[in-house]
Amino acid sequence: MVGASSFLVTILCIHFPPVRAKTYPSSGILSYGLLIMICMFESFYLVIGQIIVYFFLIIVVMTVFIAIFVIYSFRTGKFPFPNVVLSGTLVLEGLVKALFRLFEIDDSIVDNVVIRLRNKISLKRFESLPFDKKAIFLPQCLRSVDCPAKLSPEGIQCINCGQCNIGGTKKILEHLGYMVFVVPGSSFIKRMIVKYKPGAILGVGCISELKGGLDLCHRFGVPAVAIPLDKDGCVSTTLDWDVFYRTTKADKIASESSHS
Ligand code: SF4
Repeated sequence: MVGASSFLVTILCIHFPPVRAKTYPSSGILSYGLLIMICMFESFYLVIGQIIVYFFLIIVVMTVFIAIFVIYSFRTGKFPFPNVVLSGTLVLEGLVKALFRLFEIDDSIVDNVVIRLRNKISLKRFESLPFDKKAIFLPQCLRSVDCPAKLSPEGIQCINCGQCNIGGTKKILEHLGYMVFVVPGSSFIKRMIVKYKPGAILGVGCISELKGGLDLCHRFGVPAVAIPLDKDGCVSTTLDWDVFYRTTKADKIASESSHS
């Protein structure tokens, strides 16, 4: 029996290295049982420790990898493997931003790239749908400071007074068939998605609002594209209307109406 136990200890010591570093009782079934348990526990903790170290290493490598992709995409406007990079960026967003801050890089470019990635993924779907299945959300900050429009449950009711671009744009878009809303607040978008169930959405806003809006649309399973404002703020913001008209396929009709 003792010989068999010694053999077992020898095997354990070969396969469970921590055993070798210790002095253990030389005889007795209980002692060997204890020894086996110690070996198992030590090996278990060793394996768990290794898994944790590898896990953190993988996270660090992935964070650096995603950060490099974000910088590359932001600088070049190229978005290789958009679905993979988007998923990785969303999962590791906090760490990627922390890494940016560590190297004193503006972390808002992460949000910027997330928006452009979502645009790249959703644009084809947005363009493929007929106009009357799509909704457009314009921010109220694009209005003139003297806007006479009133607030209603369907958003700001533009009366096309001519003091800002929203009136003429809304008219063109509605002529094409789009549902157009001037958004008074972020909760409004959720209410309109639930009410009108658009097949796709285009939103205009500042980067932080757009990111929240795109996340919301994603949760509802609605493909959405976003166009950031040229100048953020609470009033008198500006937009690149050429980009907006091109994206909504309203550029032709917009240029015709501007010449008439
Ligand atoms: S065009 Fe419409 S949104 Fe713009 S200021 Fe006039 S009423 Fe307000």
